[in-house]
Amino acid sequence: LSGASESAAADQQPKKFPKGVVLGKDGKPCRSCTSFASWAAQTKKDVATGSRAVSTSTTAVASGPPADCPPDVETLGRSTWTLLHSIAAQYPETPSQTQKSDLLGFVGLFSKLYPCWVCAEDFQGYMARQKPQVNSRDEFSQWLCRAHNDVNRKLGKPEFDCSKWDERWRTGWKD
Ligand code: FAD
Repeated sequence: LSGASESAAADQQPKKFPKGVVLGKDGKPCRSCTSFASWAAQTKKDVATGSRAVSTSTTAVASGPPADCPPDVETLGRSTWTLLHSIAAQYPETPSQTQKSDLLGFVGLFSKLYPCWVCAEDFQGYMARQKPQVNSRDEFSQWLCRAHNDVNRKLGKPEFDCSKWDERWRTGWKD
């Protein structure tokens, strides 16, 4: 093959990505579905040639993407759980019908629009198995805590004790 044909053939080969890089539905690496460590591994070559201003030092990789870079799956997840649990913390103890249907609508749309598509699909699956419970703050916060634990289990993280939810997300710790 000539140089040009070789390069055309190479373009048609499925590109190999390091373990942990999740592809988007367009076949390209999905940044909000991938940890910064895996993302940095696949951009390493570009970093080495100086074409990307991303630091791949061990410390930088361990602490996640720089604050002014697009979020990885972990930064996005942490911020999103903060938002979701804070919404639950502000939800009324005895919500009106409108507030219940607003929350149901929000959770349904959220599960479709979440930028990490693998996370979104799993969350939709969880919602199909465990219908969101929105009759009171306590009900919703416990449902959300179990939903978060479902993801924790999937990722091999410790489960959170849902009896501590109120202190963690609403009142602060009693010391
Ligand atoms: P996080 O899990 O982000 O939790 C933040 C804080 O919440 C913790 O420090 C703790 O204080 C508290 N907490 C922990 N568990 C609970 C609980 N059950 N109830 C109440 N509070 C709790 N990442 C993936 O790699 N793959 C996925 O498929 C995936 N799916 C996700 C789906 C959704 C809907 C969301 C919002 C995130 C998802 N993530 C996924 C991201 C993942 O859940 C974490 O956010 C990310 O790995 C960072 O974890 P973390 O250890 O910093 O703590």
